[in-house]
This record gives sequence, C-alpha cells and structure tokens, in this order.
Amino acid sequence: MNNIIITIDGYSACGKSTLAKQLAKKLGYVYVDSGAMYRAVTLHFLRNHIDCTNTAEVISTLNNITIEFKFNDHAQQSEIYLNDENVEYLIRNLVIAEKVSEVASIKEVRSFAVAQQQKIGEKKGIVMDGRDIGTTVFPNAELKIFMIADITVRSERRFVELFNKNPNITIEEVESNLEMRDYTDSNREISPLRKAVDAIEIDNTFLSIDQQLDIATQLTTEKLQ
Ligand code: C5P
Repeated sequence: MNNIIITIDGYSACGKSTLAKQLAKKLGYVYVDSGAMYRAVTLHFLRNHIDCTNTAEVISTLNNITIEFKFNDHAQQSEIYLNDENVEYLIRNLVIAEKVSEVASIKEVRSFAVAQQQKIGEKKGIVMDGRDIGTTVFPNAELKIFMIADITVRSERRFVELFNKNPNITIEEVESNLEMRDYTDSNREISPLRKAVDAIEIDNTFLSIDQQLDIATQLTTEKLQ
C-alpha cells in the first residue's frame, strides 16, 4: 500500500497533536510536530535576546541553528533537538507560547521551518500537524484534516496540561494566550492559518480522544483505498 501524507491543521489547543500522534502510531507513520520547530526557534531567540525586527540578525541566527527530531525509545516519542540539546521539555510553557506567534510570523523563520518540513515529508508516510501544513507545506497532501473546538473546552484542556507543570497558572491566562495566538496566526502576512479548500473539518468539542481517532482512521482508510 502506498504511503501518503496526512496534514492536521487548526487553532491552538484543538487536540491536533494528540490525534496526529495516535494516527501516526496506528499507521506506522512518522509524526512531525511542526509547532515544536517554531517553539524551539523561539526558545533560541529568547535565550539570545534576538531582535525579531532586525532581519540581518534573524538570518544570521537561523544560519547557526540546527533543529532535528530524534526518537526517544524510552519515552516512545519523537523529541526535538535544538543545536544537539534536547529541548522537548523546555518549549511547552506559557513564556514560549507568549512569544512564538510573533517569531512564527517572520518570513525568514517560516522559510527555514518549511524547507525542513518538506524535506522530512519527501518519502511520505507522515502525519504532520500545524497551521499551514495543508495550505503551504504540503498543498498536494492526500488527506487534509482541519480541527476546530470551542474556546472554553480548548482552554480547559490546555490549562490542565500546563497546570501540572506550573500551579500558578490561571485559566484566564491560558485562554487569552490561545486567543492571541489564533488571532496572530490567522492574520499574519505569510501562510496565515486557513482551512485548505480540500480539508475535512473535525469539530472535537464533544468528541473523546478515541472518537476523533476513529473518524480520522476512517478518513485515512477511504483515502488509501
Ligand atoms: O502547535 P503549537 O501550538 O505548538 O504551535 C505553536 C505556534 O507555532 C503556533 O501558535 C503558531 O504561531 C506557530 N506555528 C506556525 N505554523 C505551524 C505550526 C505552528 O506558525 N505550522
């Protein structure tokens, strides 16, 4: 059976990565978290006090960054490395979330990330989630999913994840971060967050994790036949 490319785009905290990971596992495909790449670049920019408005500084910084995914056998997941440092557990917090959409709207940052994403997808057999995967990164992907969910439900889900790491966090902070990112991601000049014309929408507000996986599995089976 031929391998295909599956893209999962949508708003922040819609459960894209949960679905993408499970679907990839079920199909024996590679899962790629494109958001992790923008988060890792953001971590590097914050650590090195890079001025996002200084194009020359941005370009020279990107020239000295390597981003790779390596599979962690123990954790049974692929983890992101920034210049050979495992930063998987340093990028999923509100400090990064507050800055990432600004960094991700920089043209040079997008070209840097998109080129790597396309390279990873050359052999197909991948599930990649993000904001512009079905529109810009793989416009010819065989299956495109666009996920949506109610903002209150999304905020609650993300709050639970972040609260475990930082009990000082409030649900209001989480919700306003999601709204801010959705706005910036949807309104940026380059590759704004959009549903591709040929994407299939899944609203998972009232779906369980198993139910959304069943729907995506069914869609994949139809595409593979
Ligand atoms: O998916 P995640 O929430 O980790 O993505 C973090 C941020 O990275 C998004 O809010 C968005 O600004 C940016 N992003 C993007 N394009 C992608 C994936 C993520 O601009 N394909």
